[in-house]
Amino acid sequence: MKSRQLIELENRYGAHNYHPLDVVIHRGEGVWVEDVEGNRYLDCLSAYSALNQGHCHPRIMETLVTQASTLTLTSRAFRNDQLPLFYQEICELTGYEMALPMNTGAEAVETAIKAARKWGYTVKGVPDGQAEIVTCAGNFHGRTLTVVSFSTEPEYKAGFAPYTPGFVTIPYGDADALRAAITPNTVAFLFEPIQGEGGVVVPPDGYLRAVREICAEHDVLTMADEIQTGLGRTGRLFACDHEDVKPDVMILGKALSGGAYPVSVVLSSREVLGVFKPGDHGSTFGGNPLGCAVARTALKVLAEEGMVDNAARMGEYFQERLAEINSPHIKEVRGKGLLIGVELHLEAGGARRFCEALRARGVLVKETRTHVIRFAPPLIITREEIDWALERVQDVLIMPLSK
Ligand SMILES: *Cc1c(COP(=O)(O)O)cnc(C)c1O
Repeated sequence: MKSRQLIELENRYGAHNYHPLDVVIHRGEGVWVEDVEGNRYLDCLSAYSALNQGHCHPRIMETLVTQASTLTLTSRAFRNDQLPLFYQEICELTGYEMALPMNTGAEAVETAIKAARKWGYTVKGVPDGQAEIVTCAGNFHGRTLTVVSFSTEPEYKAGFAPYTPGFVTIPYGDADALRAAITPNTVAFLFEPIQGEGGVVVPPDGYLRAVREICAEHDVLTMADEIQTGLGRTGRLFACDHEDVKPDVMILGKALSGGAYPVSVVLSSREVLGVFKPGDHGSTFGGNPLGCAVARTALKVLAEEGMVDNAARMGEYFQERLAEINSPHIKEVRGKGLLIGVELHLEAGGARRFCEALRARGVLVKETRTHVIRFAPPLIITREEIDWALERVQDVLIMPLSK
């Protein structure tokens, strides 16, 4: 079937909760994808960083196929032989004492919120029902009702009221605002070390360390949502590593499975995750052997194939070369590692048309927050591939205003 027919079917039968570019992808390998007509594209979005290891990584695919034909699901009513090894390997890799597996990122965020509240009541001594969690303006933590309750994007929450109470919003990147927002009932500060969906917003240097100190002083949990920034994306295993900060709670998803299967996890101490007792939280698919096996290989691949270092080196190169582009449309180039945002001036009329133009030239990117083009290719990208993309990016960014 041709792209046009498939797009028609999708538009007719599917809910319109996305506005995708009109490229119908049929297969993927590494950093490249191919549409149903056989056109090739360089993927510079990586499914919002779920594909850090690249499309259809051979080792991950081998695990997926082997495990899929051995055992896929037991539910947590019984044990399986992959979950304990996943626990051990991810805790050893990250230095946390305990892990709690879920499936999607939003579920892991919900899990972290539940953990923080229960920790607040049972460990910190906050009066029942009074726990507060501080969050940041411009955040993105997923799409469930509780999570959109503390979004500051009208688009994410309008029409979905009533909202879950218990959240306080402060400006992002402002440590003083955090200090001022903390009350005796504050149990946690939930933040992204770089706001990806928010437009690749990088906080000022020293922010993460300041957050760490302020929270420690007030017995407030630091909860880092590294679903997008984690697992090598920014050139370190975690974006918090850039400031040598180890948050109390680490939330991972996306690249945890290399794009092969939904796997997310909450990592923390025994004190925090120990608040969960049998029956008070769970998920039928969370911790299933297929997801665990895939995640184990996805983590190994990331470490053994030097992807984190490559992200650091290639990210620096990509960002430098983008900053050299002399375009009247570019306001700022920013980011860390291979999480890069190119913010355009308002007069450029939005990032969307540049994304469309890049698609026509074989580079897949997506606008975020109207005026920002995000570049986040798989971490295995080479200098030659970046050069190939840059030629096209340069072409498009010097396009005259009226198309
Ligand atoms: C993608 C993302 C989520 C949500 O993950 P889903 O798997 O889509 O539920 C949460 N937080 C951040 C920072 C993300 O980028």
